[in-house]
Amino acid sequence: MSDPVSVALLDLRGVRKTFRTPERQERTVLEGVDFRLEEGEIVALLGKSGSGKSTLLRIMAGLISANGGDVLYRGRKVGGPAKGIAMVFQSFALFPWLTVQENVELGLEAAGVARAEREQRAGDVIDLIGLGGYEGAYPKELSGGMRQRVGFARALVMRPDVLLLDEPFSALDVLTSETLREDLIDLWEERKIPTKGILLVSHNIEEAVSIADRVLVFSSDPGRVRAEIRVGLPRPRDPESPAFRQIVDEVYTLMTANVRGGVGGAQDQLTLGYRLPDTTPGKLEGLLETLAEPPFNGRADLPQLAEETELEDDILFHLFEGLRVLGLARIAAGDIFITAAGRAFIDADDSTRKELFAETLLRNIPLAAHIRRVLDERRDHRAPEDRFLQELQDYLTDGEAERVLETAITWGRYAEIFDYDYNSGVLMLPEDVVEEMEAEDGRAED
Ligand code: ADP
Ligand code: MG
Repeated sequence: MSDPVSVALLDLRGVRKTFRTPERQERTVLEGVDFRLEEGEIVALLGKSGSGKSTLLRIMAGLISANGGDVLYRGRKVGGPAKGIAMVFQSFALFPWLTVQENVELGLEAAGVARAEREQRAGDVIDLIGLGGYEGAYPKELSGGMRQRVGFARALVMRPDVLLLDEPFSALDVLTSETLREDLIDLWEERKIPTKGILLVSHNIEEAVSIADRVLVFSSDPGRVRAEIRVGLPRPRDPESPAFRQIVDEVYTLMTANVRGGVGGAQDQLTLGYRLPDTTPGKLEGLLETLAEPPFNGRADLPQLAEETELEDDILFHLFEGLRVLGLARIAAGDIFITAAGRAFIDADDSTRKELFAETLLRNIPLAAHIRRVLDERRDHRAPEDRFLQELQDYLTDGEAERVLETAITWGRYAEIFDYDYNSGVLMLPEDVVEEMEAEDGRAED
């Protein structure tokens, strides 16, 4: 329990943030956000996608400013990137041309730390986070889990007082994210890091309850802290225990109460048998680029876009649907808008685009996530396509099932989340992924 007169690590009062829509209207994303992070606590923030959680974190870190209210870090107003606060992002955002060591040293270099000290500190943190031996590796040689470890190392090397984690585990498979989460908790509990408070944004209730002292439920439109639940359980926590289950139930009830569409929004309601739109990543990319560039600059009237691209309506509608379910664009009142995710995709280089595509595919398309899960779990990491066709035939006609699976394969191959042999009709994990898994297994046995 905190002393009521003590100064909180972070103290937000009535924070408000508005953005301009492409039609130049003001849109209030955050309104009346009150929040305190006390010394010694881990707080989890749960909320729907698009509710403003990332925006709030960026405001706390001083990366963007609020339009109203106060943001205090240890009692002082935050007026720019705050020294002492570090962030870890969902997408790994590593520089592909730099090694692990160089990626980790970047922040220190920017802070003017001398070379010898940089090397020493980065080396120490790399060991601490379990990446020892990989100093010279490039991001593309690492698995998703290891890349995110680099993301953590980059934050921890700054010896942050406050750590802001923006869905850092959600791009990882279940086992990898659990391991990394447990490692982080160990570092925290054993005080191997100087960090005094952690704020974790998550959309996974179990994850929030297993890690946090308090779970905050964030509402949307506009975003603000709607409810709070204390988790008074000692760590490590047993997710099967009745006390744990009861808290999960409570959080779940709070999250769905008075919130249309429940936890994840419309996109999470897709099922395995969802008819993936008949299009290719290359065409999606092409349309998104057209949408981003003049004369559209991120927003287009649908008929006008049809005219400009000279595409048939049915082809165009498949493209719109594809961009929508992948979260890259949004359609409202006869217009199509590029989303923040779509903008990030457009601004990225080719390999990052693939990563972003993989991320949204696994997150939003149940069939893609299902295929990947099956391949992950199989000993030989291979499965005949017929296995998936049969499953799809529970939902779709035979012809549709084939078409949908073919689309999923095209998207998945582009994203490099799985591969496919056209001769044998066998789906498999990409070779480099299998090699990484074997390397990891080998080390786990050591
Ligand atoms: P969350 O992290 O909860 O998913 P975000 O903070 O990323 O939500 O976004 C909240 C809302 O604010 C979204 O509708 C998003 O499109 C919008 N938004 C975020 N950043 C900007 C920006 N720089 N300009 C315009 N709108 C933005
Ligand atoms: Mg976010």
